[in-house]
Order: sequence, then C-alpha cells, then structure tokens
Amino acid sequence: MEGKTGLMSSPKEKPHVVCIPYPAQGHINPMLKLAKILHHKGFHITFINTEFNHKRLLKSRGPDSLNGLPSFQFKTIPDGLPPSDDVDATQDIPSLTQSISTNCIGPFKDLLAKLNPPVSCIVSDVAMSFTLEAAEELGIPEVLFWCSSACASLAYGHFSVFIEKGIIPIKDASYLTNGYLDQTLDWMPGMKNIRLRDLPSSIRTTDPDDIMVKITLQATGSSHKAAAVILNTFDELEQDFLDPLSTIYPPIYTIGPLNLLEEQVNDEDETLAVLGSNLWKEEPECLDWLDRKDPKSVVYVNFGSITVMTFEQLVEFAWGLANSQTSFLWIIRPDLVSGDSAILPPEFLEEVKERGLLVRWCPQEQVLKHKSVGGFLTHNGWNSTLESISYGVPMICWPFFADQQTNCWACRTQWGIGMEIDNNVKRDEVESLVRELMVGEKGEDMKSKSLYWKNKAGEAAKSASGSSCSNLEKLIKVLLQS
Ligand code: UDP
Repeated sequence: MEGKTGLMSSPKEKPHVVCIPYPAQGHINPMLKLAKILHHKGFHITFINTEFNHKRLLKSRGPDSLNGLPSFQFKTIPDGLPPSDDVDATQDIPSLTQSISTNCIGPFKDLLAKLNPPVSCIVSDVAMSFTLEAAEELGIPEVLFWCSSACASLAYGHFSVFIEKGIIPIKDASYLTNGYLDQTLDWMPGMKNIRLRDLPSSIRTTDPDDIMVKITLQATGSSHKAAAVILNTFDELEQDFLDPLSTIYPPIYTIGPLNLLEEQVNDEDETLAVLGSNLWKEEPECLDWLDRKDPKSVVYVNFGSITVMTFEQLVEFAWGLANSQTSFLWIIRPDLVSGDSAILPPEFLEEVKERGLLVRWCPQEQVLKHKSVGGFLTHNGWNSTLESISYGVPMICWPFFADQQTNCWACRTQWGIGMEIDNNVKRDEVESLVRELMVGEKGEDMKSKSLYWKNKAGEAAKSASGSSCSNLEKLIKVLLQS
C-alpha cells in the first residue's frame, strides 16, 4: 500500500529521499520515524544502516524485518570498525565517530551512485556530516537532521565560542571535581545562568584535539551548506532556544515529537507499522505486568542504549528503589555495567519480587504511555525525554553524557518536569526522590506540568494546524524543490 497522501501516482516518479542516521539507537529511531512519515507522504525511501547494525536489527526483529516495501528499501555501508566478537565496539562513541568520519564517505558515494530511482535529496544525521561532501560532489541537495533538543543544539552551536573563551578544553582533570563546573554563564542566549555542568559533556575534555569537539565543530560549521535543518522538537516547548538557534543555522523545521506523528502513520498504514528499529530484542511481556498494576503507581527506570554505570552505582539504584516501597519496571541492558555483569544481589531480588520487574529491553513508548506508569527515572537521552513529555510522565534525571546534561537542565529549570540525582548516586537520594516523584508535593506539581506539556505536544503534532504538522508540510516542499 502506498501513502494516502501520495505525491505522484507511479512509484517510478516518486521523489527519492535517502535517510542516513548516525549508527546509534537514539539516532536510528527518530530517523526511521521520519523516513516512515516521508514515505507515507509519498516519497520513495532508502534507509542506510551500517552493516553491523543491520545484522543486529535482523537478529532483534527477525529475518524478514528489513525486507522493506517496494518503495522503502534498506541498504548498508560499513562503519569501518574492525570486527569484534566479545565487545560491542559501537558503544564506544568516540571510536565509532572517528571511524565513521574517515571510512564511510567512499562506500556512501558508491551506494548513492547506484541507487535507483536517482536520489533527489539526502536527509542525513548531522553527526554524519561527511555526507555533505558526497552530496556536494554528486550535486544532490541535503537536509541535516539534528537528533538533539533545540537547547542542546544551541549549546553545540556555541562550541567555537567556548573555545575562544577558554572554556574548552578545561585546564586539567581536577577542574571536574573542584567546583569549577558549578560556575554559571550569563551570556548564553536563551540559557541565562546555565552552569558549565549543564552544557553538553564534551566540554569537559582536557584534550585540545578531542574527537567529539572536532566533530561538533565540523557539524555546526558545515550546517550552513544544508538546504534546511530538522529538529525533533516542537515550537511551544523550545521557542526560547529556537529563536537564537535560527540565527546560526539555515531554515529550521521543528517537526516533533516524531513519535506522535509516527503513531498516526502506523494507525493508517500497517505495512509501515511493522517497521521498527530496536537493536535489542524487546520484551513486551512487561506490558502485561504493567496491566496488573494500579494507575500511575509504577516508576519506570531506563538509562537508554549507551549509558554505563559501575556495579556500585547499580546497587545504589537497586536499594534506593527497593527502599522507596514503590513498584518499578527496570530495564537493565546486558551491557549496562561497565566491565562487569549486571546481576543484582539475591537479597535485593527477594525483597522486591512482588513489586519489581527487571527486563533487558522494552517497547519504551508503549511503556511510557501505559496508564500504570507514574514516573520515569531516566538518563535524559533526547528521545527518552521527548517521549516522556509526549505521554505526560514526570522524570528523575541521571544524565550520563553528550546532550543529556542540557536536557536535564531544561527539564528541571525550564519545563518543571524533572528532578536531578547526583552523579555520585546514593540509595537514600534515590529513595527520597522516587517518593517525592510518586507521592510528594513537588511530584504533584511536576505531574501537572507534565500534563500541560503533553497537551501542547499533542496540539503541535496531532492536529493538521499544529506547528509540527504545518512545519512538516513546509519541509516536504523543501524536499520536493530539491
Ligand atoms: N528504547 C526502547 N527500549 C528500551 C530502551 C530504549 O525502545 O528499553 C528506545 C527509546 O524509546 C528511545 C531510544 O531507544 O527512542 C533511546 O534513545 P535516547 O535518545 O533516549 O537515548 P540513547 O540511547 O541515545 O542514550
């Protein structure tokens, strides 16, 4: 079945968009959502994964899951990392980024030249900015997708200023613990008095040649070559950051929350609904467990696809959750604990057996929209944050790296829907914040603000006149003109 709002009658005539995400879960997910939405609007889609992730998807989702549709195909390029049997090298983001920036351009160009119908436009993750060079060489227009929030994108857009002002790199590692990061900046547009510790974590480097800083500068510096920039957010949520951001980048199209726009596509087109992108095998049985719980009684705990912690931190979280006497669904990825197994002590498992469920990976959006979930203990990846906002769930924030610190800052100080846990997590703090979130006064306030933002997200993304829906139509015009 082709998209209801098909642009052209014959599949051959469809404009052909190539979508290429950065090869990490938090980037593949929103890009696939966008690709599905564009396909539904009548575009022919080629979606490019790395070979490594393509194999993982086949394993997690089944051998037929990437067969695609006649006008929605999946292709691969190598990520350039050496094969490894025992560790997942793609979890090491600096190495992956380095490898991609040097190894992918050749295979990407070869693939583009072979694709049929000819490619009309590339939608590339901004972290894959080598694609701009290929696009330029082959004369194909490109639109960049920033998968971060507007506030984090704005902070990234200031990296060259941070270097000029001597903020990056920091002088030495003692600056990470001597209170230096608590300083506030009074000059950041839209982010007055933000602390250094709330800026993306790559500012904390001591290395003047840090690869993450280099890639950020490359991405922000080359963004002006793109025909447009896409952000997975909505105007009402981030207007204060979008205003200054629009002075740095080419036309910005805010078309989020993409999970809400995707819901409509899935409802209308079951051939698209089956396309998913989870790299780990989902354990949907946790939804049955949630069905048996009281409304808003469960705290959902998930730190996303990359966060790692020490075994001691895992144990602090565990006893904090146990001592809070609250029901919880905790997603523990097999590689969550760095260099160690994530197996919790038997006394803990015995203590929580009636009210805790531990699984390895879940269908997160379905969990967040489940009526039994009343709060989310999260690492504040942007997708998780926005999904939580979309479904009206207040958060306890334990940011790990990248843009997560800035997302946490916005949840706490701008939107009133989050409380932060100290990085050096202790069980007593977990216990008291979980109680506060679920039954406290501050929790009540956060719940009502979360409901407010949920409604605003729905207005933006679910009605044709909403800001994200109308921005999507404008973006489609850009893609068609390309
Ligand atoms: N996710 C999921 N199930 C899980 C954990 C994560 O479906 O058990 C999805 C989640 O819905 C989100 C993505 O994986 O879309 C994680 O992206 P995010 O930006 O939140 O964090 P990252 O993994 O990039 O740190």
